[in-house]
Amino acid sequence: MDRIGDYRQYRLRLARAVARRLVLEHRLSVPIDVEAFCKNVAGLEIYFDPGIDDRVSAVLRRDLRAVLVNASKARVHQRFSIAHELGHWYLHSDSSVANERTVPLAAINELLDAEANAFAAEFLMPAAAVHEFVRAGVADLPALAVRFEVSQEAVWYRLKELRLAHRVRPRAIGNGSPRGVVT
Ligand SMILES: [Zn+2]
Repeated sequence: MDRIGDYRQYRLRLARAVARRLVLEHRLSVPIDVEAFCKNVAGLEIYFDPGIDDRVSAVLRRDLRAVLVNASKARVHQRFSIAHELGHWYLHSDSSVANERTVPLAAINELLDAEANAFAAEFLMPAAAVHEFVRAGVADLPALAVRFEVSQEAVWYRLKELRLAHRVRPRAIGNGSPRGVVT
């Protein structure tokens, strides 16, 4: 892997480690109440903004100590967006990345967002909890999405990241099955 690729992987590992530490330190359990965490731990208010540009999921306003969330998005989408902004709050409070020469200037914003996504995924779907559910036989996407209160897409991406995708079915077994859990 090239030097920038290595550096990127290192930054993403760091972002996940920060999220993991917060989950452990505050003894959070799934589904993680990201809004309560913002308010009670990070000191960030959450506002559901009905007038926000539809292409924007959420915005972190450091000046207001607030996260403005697109009110029209689905609940699971909003939760991930809040966790993403929380990642920016913890990871990007200074200009440490902008001052580093490893990453070309044009790639910095993309890297910051990738870090915030890595943080959000680890925060809402802690690796230990994902492994535990899969080991316990929660083996389809809809069931896992419900456990973590995230979208099925987010679970799928996380499973691939954790190399667990082969253990999980893309759909529930039996149409409309209330359990959807197989061993
Ligand atoms: Zn972002």
